[in-house]
Amino acid sequence: MWKKNDEIRMAITDLTNEGSGVGHADGCAVFVKDTVPGDAGTVRIIKAKKNYAYGIMTRLETASDWRVPSACPVSGPCGGCQLCHVAYDKQLAWKQQKVKNCLERIGGLKGIEVLPVLGMDEPWHYRNKAQYPVGYDREGRLTAGFYAGHSHRIVPSEDCRIQDERSNRIRGLVLSWMEEHRISAYDEETGKGLVRHIIVRVGAATGEIMTGLVVNGTKLPAAEDLIERLRTVPGMTSVCLNINRERTNVILGRDVRVLWGRPYITDRIGDVSYRISLLSFYQVNPAQTQKLYRTALDYAGLTGNETVWDLYCGIGTISLFLARRAKQVCGVEIVEAAVADAAENAALNDIRNAEFFAGAAEDVLPAKYRESGGAMRADVIVVDPPRKGCDQALLDTIVKMEPKRVVYVSCDPATLARDLKYLCANGFRVEKVQPCDMFPQSVHVESVVLITRA
Ligand code: SAH
Repeated sequence: MWKKNDEIRMAITDLTNEGSGVGHADGCAVFVKDTVPGDAGTVRIIKAKKNYAYGIMTRLETASDWRVPSACPVSGPCGGCQLCHVAYDKQLAWKQQKVKNCLERIGGLKGIEVLPVLGMDEPWHYRNKAQYPVGYDREGRLTAGFYAGHSHRIVPSEDCRIQDERSNRIRGLVLSWMEEHRISAYDEETGKGLVRHIIVRVGAATGEIMTGLVVNGTKLPAAEDLIERLRTVPGMTSVCLNINRERTNVILGRDVRVLWGRPYITDRIGDVSYRISLLSFYQVNPAQTQKLYRTALDYAGLTGNETVWDLYCGIGTISLFLARRAKQVCGVEIVEAAVADAAENAALNDIRNAEFFAGAAEDVLPAKYRESGGAMRADVIVVDPPRKGCDQALLDTIVKMEPKRVVYVSCDPATLARDLKYLCANGFRVEKVQPCDMFPQSVHVESVVLITRA
C-alpha cells in the first residue's frame, strides 16, 4: 500500500467523471489532479486510503496529446471549469464515451450507438448567465469570482473565459461601486454583510441585459449611483434586487424587487421569443440550445396532429418550440414564476395551443391520468429533468400513457441511464442518443435521447 510522500512512476490512463486524471500502480488507483490520459511521469502521494490514493504529478516525463495550455489564468484553483487544459476535440470524445459508459454500466444497455457530441466552433465566452459570489480575499480585499472546487473560497475572476464579456464588465462595475460607497459583502461564516451574489443575464439574440444583486437585507444604499453606472452598459434592460436573508448556500431568495427597468429580459431561440425573469431557469448556452432544441424537435417527429406533454418545462422553451408543429402541448413545471413566464411567452408568440400546469411532474401527470380514468394518452412525451432525473411515479405514468415517442433531454448521463433502464424494461426501446456540449471546458454533458415503444 502507498503512503504519504511516496514517489511513484506511473502513466495516467483515464479521466474520472469529475475530470481528475487517474492511473494504477500496484493494483491501487491513484487520482492525480490536472493530468490527462497519456501523461506519464513521477507522482507524489499526498493522501493514501485503503484501496486508492491521491497524488500530484511532480515531474511530467511524457505529455499527452490531450494537453493544451489553459486559456484561463485561474483554471487551476477555480472550480467552475475542469477541462481548460484538455484539447476541445478530446473533451468531446471523452464526453461521448462518458455517455456510452453510463448507458452500459448503469443502464445495462449494450450496443447502443452514441452519436458524436455536437460541439461548438468557438467554445469560449458562451455563457449567457453569470453568478459571481462576492466576498473578501485573504488580504481582506473585496472580490468576486467563482468558488474553488469543493469549497466556498472565492477565486477572484476578472476575465472569465466562458462568460459573456459584458458579464465580466458588470462584475467590475458593481465591485467598484461597492468599494466607493463602502458597501459590505456578505460573510457566510458570520451571516453579516450585505451583497451575496452578482447575477448577470444576457439575451444573446436581443442584447438585452439583466443585472441582479442578491442581498442580505431589504434595501440597497446608493442604488441611484449603481443604476447610473449600470446604464452605461449598452443593452441594460433590467436591474433587480433579490432578497435572501437566510443562512443558506441556496443563491436566490424568493423576493425580487425591480430597481430599474423591467422585471425581465427577452431572448429568442429560432423563431420563438422568450421572457426570462431572474428566478426562472433558462439554458445557459444559447448557441448550443438551438442545436439541442432542434434535435428534440426532430426526435419528436411532429406532423401537426400530435398531443405532446413537456415535463419540467421551465419557462416553456421546448413546449413553444414544439407547439407550432403539434396539435396541443401541455407543459408542467414546479417553479410558479417560470409557469407564469411560460404562459406569457405563449401569448407573446401568439401560440394558442400550449397550456401550462404548476406542480411537480410526478404529481401532476399521474393525477391527470387518474382523473381521466386511465384514458389519457399522448403521442409524444418530452422530459427535461434536473440532475436527479425522473421520479419513478412519473416514469410509471409515462409507460401507462403509451406514447409513440419519448424524448428525454438529460443533463446527467447517470440518472438518464437509470431511467432508460426502467423504460426499456417496460416496453420501450432506445433509438438514438445525441449528446450536445452545452458546457464546454466543464465535465458536464447534455444528451437528447429518442425512445420509442418496442
Ligand atoms: N425544459 C426547460 C427547463 C429544463 S431545467 C428548458 O430547456 O429551458 C429543469 C426544470 O425542471 C427547471 O425549470 C426546474 O424548476 C424544474 N423542476 C425541477 N423539479 C421538478 C419537478 N419535480 N417537477 C417539475 N419540474 C421540476
